[in-house]
Amino acid sequence: MNFIYQSFANKIYFGHGQLKKLSSIVNESGGTRLFAISTNRTKAIVDELIKSFGPDHVSHFSKVVQHVPKMVVDEAIAIAKENRSNIIIAIGGGSAIGLAKGMALETHLPILAIPTTYAGSEMTHVYGISSGSVKTVGRDLSVLPQTVIYDPSLTAQMPVALAATSSMNAMAHLIEALYAHDGNPITYQTSLMGIRFLKEGMEQLITERSLENANANLQFGAYLAGKALCEVTMSLHHKAAHVLGGSFGMEHGEVHTVLLPYVLEYQMPGIAKTVISDLQKIFNDPHPSLKLRTFAGQMGSSTTLKAIDFQEQLIPEAAHLIVAKPFPNPVEITEKGIEALLMRAYQGEL
Ligand code: NAD
Repeated sequence: MNFIYQSFANKIYFGHGQLKKLSSIVNESGGTRLFAISTNRTKAIVDELIKSFGPDHVSHFSKVVQHVPKMVVDEAIAIAKENRSNIIIAIGGGSAIGLAKGMALETHLPILAIPTTYAGSEMTHVYGISSGSVKTVGRDLSVLPQTVIYDPSLTAQMPVALAATSSMNAMAHLIEALYAHDGNPITYQTSLMGIRFLKEGMEQLITERSLENANANLQFGAYLAGKALCEVTMSLHHKAAHVLGGSFGMEHGEVHTVLLPYVLEYQMPGIAKTVISDLQKIFNDPHPSLKLRTFAGQMGSSTTLKAIDFQEQLIPEAAHLIVAKPFPNPVEITEKGIEALLMRAYQGEL
């Protein structure tokens, strides 16, 4: 064995009832003047904080916009400075947590993240900020949330459609972690564990059409997926999803869900046999990519680019953008190859 493993230190509170400890967790973290990011959906949590810390000590910011526009970050920072906030509490999906990261990059305020989707941003030191149509993505330790509360009560009310695409988003992190060029045995084993939990949660979601039992499994899988996303380098799937989301405005979770089976199939010739065999065992199926597409369909998600209204004529431009900058990947990347891959994802050929 020969490897490098970088772990990222943060404290996790996981399980039913953890959210009830929020005020004491904020106190433990040294937070006295709070900047709470939350849409109205989770406003009740902010109200609780206001009760505990007083209205003068809690600023509530509800302007959560996908892709973290720089103007919104600047507006939030100005309010946090004026109110002398000393902790950011981000309640929501990747967009709310992304805003907190944009603020922390400049202010170095600590973040306490309370995720309400399975996207995984709360576990990473990766940030993205957009200015006009340009999204700058980078890594900086100051944006890594220091504390994360995973309470399944927060994701339990998610619409099944969102739970389906969001859990597939998490699945994509774990699958790409398995064949990362800078992989290590620790991330590999925890990723396999994450895939098992997500698979079980997805099966429960399919049979029960509710999150009641699926939720804790999906959320635990999502936590491991967020960890993996940070510990190793993602490749083609994430590059393609980033381009389709960032440059063509496609919805993040939907794009991940559609692309994953087609990209996995594309990568197969370059993936180690042991990895393929581990996936076959977990999915109990000789064709893990097909199984993933079946899961997506059974959960009610779209499974082609056509179904999510990606325009066929944009495929060459998308392929061009995906290959524009070289990145490590298990199989060779060519513009023609990616164009063909996107066409298969468009038409549903697997
Ligand atoms: P999101 O945060 O934009 O949420 C999607 C929608 O679902 C929003 O309308 C939101 O209000 C709603 N929502 C969130 N939680 C809900 C719940 N429990 N019930 C009902 N509705 C709910 O989407 P996302 O998929 O969580 O995150 C996507 C964004 O995060 C993208 O911009 C992506 O680039 C970024 N991201 C970043 C990282 C990172 O490491 N930096 C990792 C993953 C995702």
